Amino acid sequence: MDFLECYLKAGKIASEQREKTRRKDHVGSTLLTICESIEREIQEKGGIPAFPVNVSLNDIAAHYTAEPNDETIVRENDVLKIDIGVHVEGYIADTAVTVSNDPHHDSLIKSAENALNEAVRISRVNTKASEIGKLIENTISNTGFKPIQNLSGHSLAQYTIHAGKSIPNIRTIGSSFSLLSSQAYAIEPFVTMKDGQGVVFEGNIRNIFAIISRKPVKDEFVNEFLTYLWNKFRTLPFALRWILDRYEEGEARRLLDILVKKRNIHAYPILIEGKNKFVAQAEHTIVPLDGSTSVITL
Ligand code: MN
Ligand code: MN
Repeated sequence: MDFLECYLKAGKIASEQREKTRRKDHVGSTLLTICESIEREIQEKGGIPAFPVNVSLNDIAAHYTAEPNDETIVRENDVLKIDIGVHVEGYIADTAVTVSNDPHHDSLIKSAENALNEAVRISRVNTKASEIGKLIENTISNTGFKPIQNLSGHSLAQYTIHAGKSIPNIRTIGSSFSLLSSQAYAIEPFVTMKDGQGVVFEGNIRNIFAIISRKPVKDEFVNEFLTYLWNKFRTLPFALRWILDRYEEGEARRLLDILVKKRNIHAYPILIEGKNKFVAQAEHTIVPLDGSTSVITL
């Protein structure tokens, strides 16, 4: 398969899972069940999860995934962001949906969806990232909400989720860049309430990990663990849940801790809205091509 066929296959699997998730009633389900069922079905369809399914509730904007025995249950008025990544031969489709059983949150969720649709509509080869950011901000403001200014979309590369370029969710000043042909980008507006801060800060929970250095450490057993992780995930993010086939939970936590302290592994903190207001997210991955733009997660 060439790179575009890989993207299209990954995108199809990711969007099928997103739409299935959108239609489901999650109230009463645990976050663990939601993550595990999506991750299992991705594999049944011939894809590989590109990162642990993110299940971020309410004022948590991003980067929470279920713990191995996570008993958190989705409640009636929760706002749940479900962010799904699928890769085929390293080519990643990244897409997200926000769900809630409470109709009070409909307009917040709609605002994120509208901003995403508007942004995708103007995104083609040579579109300026600053134009996308401006349109996202305007669309969100016009519906009475606020964009999260320190979260952004991003370019993607093979086995790399954040490949260096950011697609802003607000108007920016200074130099920008233009979208390139055959380069994948995730566009992902995050929206909060008008009285929110419009900024996220790092929380204390860190349960998504990724290798950032393969520099060996002195302890042979720890090195073996690092090699196991590299063989399994390369540079892609993973969760504790994903390594319990080989390591007992307490042991895995201890080894991860050592490698985080040695800066071999990065532990992503959850990101929380500055005034603890509800946050909604919508996300697609696009590949601008000469002539038209392929929205691979449509
Ligand atoms: Mn995502
Ligand atoms: Mn993304």
